[in-house]
Amino acid sequence: KNDGKAKEDDGASYDIGLQDTEQGVVTRFPPEPSGYLHIGHAKAALLNDYFAHKKYKGKLILRFDDTNPLKEKQEFEDSIVHDLELMGIKPDQVTHTSDYFQELYDYCVQMLKDGMAYADNTPQDILRDERMKKIESKNRNNSIEENLAHFEEMKKGSEEGTKWYIRAKLDMQSLNGAMRDPVVYRCSPEPHHRTGSTWKIYPTYDFACPVVDAVEGVTHALRTTEYNDRDAQYQWMLKALKLRHVYNWNFARMAFIKTFLSKRKLTKIVDNGGVWGWDDPRMPTVRGIRRRGMTIEALQEFILKQGPSKSITLMDWSSFWATNKKYIDPVAGRYTAVTKQDVVHCTVVGAREAPYHEEKDLHAKNASVGKKKVYYSKRIILDQADAASFAQDEEITLMNWGNAIVRNVGRSLNPLPLITGDERKVTSLELELHLQGDVKKTSKKVTWLSEDQELTPVQLYDFDYLLTKDKLDEDDEFEKFLNPKTSEMTEALADVNVAGLKEDDIIQFDRRGYFRCDRAFKNGEPAVFFQIPTGKAK
Ligand code: ATP
Ligand code: MG
Ligand code: MG
Repeated sequence: KNDGKAKEDDGASYDIGLQDTEQGVVTRFPPEPSGYLHIGHAKAALLNDYFAHKKYKGKLILRFDDTNPLKEKQEFEDSIVHDLELMGIKPDQVTHTSDYFQELYDYCVQMLKDGMAYADNTPQDILRDERMKKIESKNRNNSIEENLAHFEEMKKGSEEGTKWYIRAKLDMQSLNGAMRDPVVYRCSPEPHHRTGSTWKIYPTYDFACPVVDAVEGVTHALRTTEYNDRDAQYQWMLKALKLRHVYNWNFARMAFIKTFLSKRKLTKIVDNGGVWGWDDPRMPTVRGIRRRGMTIEALQEFILKQGPSKSITLMDWSSFWATNKKYIDPVAGRYTAVTKQDVVHCTVVGAREAPYHEEKDLHAKNASVGKKKVYYSKRIILDQADAASFAQDEEITLMNWGNAIVRNVGRSLNPLPLITGDERKVTSLELELHLQGDVKKTSKKVTWLSEDQELTPVQLYDFDYLLTKDKLDEDDEFEKFLNPKTSEMTEALADVNVAGLKEDDIIQFDRRGYFRCDRAFKNGEPAVFFQIPTGKAK
């Protein structure tokens, strides 16, 4: 399924490369298991996979960066493994930063013994201020024995221990703030979801990342460009601990309009019930966009095309969905749905007395999509909006049947403005078939359904952005910019073939666009479809 075309954008043709790949390439994707993967993570994961498995014959490590016991859960780990699989990413090895807590501890002790790190208890706000003003901590030149004693106290998780943390001794005068003695270890007595209460101290990202990368044999550490300033610090750690060299390779963070890609905010909106869950089709999670109808092939193409760029651009969703359309259009079967509200029952004069059906291709240009049954009879239904637009004796086209002339239009007495001011609701309609008429000459091509078939009730959902503002500013409270109405549902009746569709099928309803089946028709309950954006404004 979904392998129609656009295959020319095969992995190896993207123009992105790494330095020094002769010795082999080992990359890693290091998510923190504190939420579901969003499309920013998908970018990181796909790039790492691209280098490890497509561009070079290397190895990809999935490393759960689980150094913050407060935010992490097994549920999130499981979801990440599953979502990577969905994206066709198969890590060669799955590890945890917590697998290395002992090594990390030993390396920290070594740094303390070598005088390359020290214990500090300067309160957070003062630390920040001192760092900005390049002021050395009063603890910077404490003795090695003192530092080791504080680290031992931290390790116990005692009240005194929680006041201390360990800083690497780099250069407080550096122009690069990341070099001004970063914190490498903190004390936190909370139990950890994997190591329980074994450890009361946890390495920071700045320390764990270079150490574990080197220990695991990573050759190229891909990070987003906000880490540019921290590359020097990363390299310092490797040298200070006499570890293997690892290259840093930075890429632009992904950002979309009217969208937040932050696990903290996404968690909040899930918890506050603004969406149905992490896999809600409005969520920018891997599951959410898939549920909305994004194909994995399109996601891969979209992301790898931006691969080497280092400039962060706020992207519009339109090119994302336009990429998807290339993949779904050639394979999406065509069906028909008529809006249920005020549906117009119509008599077709000149149609055969007895209802009949024909086998038709589901896709005019791709017979391999399959066949459907199209029913013809004297009794059909039309959308109210279409019928209301008809003029007496106008020639129109019934799609996939032929032309017909509008004869008797019965309208309700209550004036009900539908399309233009003086239109009234159509209550009955007679069309006279005029199959010799030229379908190229009519301006109205309408969808219709024979009532002599088992019509399938469907619910068609369309979604909007979660946010009302293109780009949130740093100090914006995102809750203030939540879109109050993000979904709209239309009840419709669809052709008999729709009853056979399965969850996840991607189809097109004529004149309405592309949809993904979210719930198949079962036990008389309407089938549920989500409209798939195509990148065009409606
Ligand atoms: P979040 O703000 O959603 O928590 P994070 O960076 O803290 O993001 P991690 O789980 O640590 O989340 O991220 C795993 C990997 O995904 C990291 O390598 C990170 O650089 C990358 N990543 C996260 N967000 C984006 C993004 N918007 N664009 C590209 N890569 C991203
Ligand atoms: Mg992170
Ligand atoms: Mg973050």
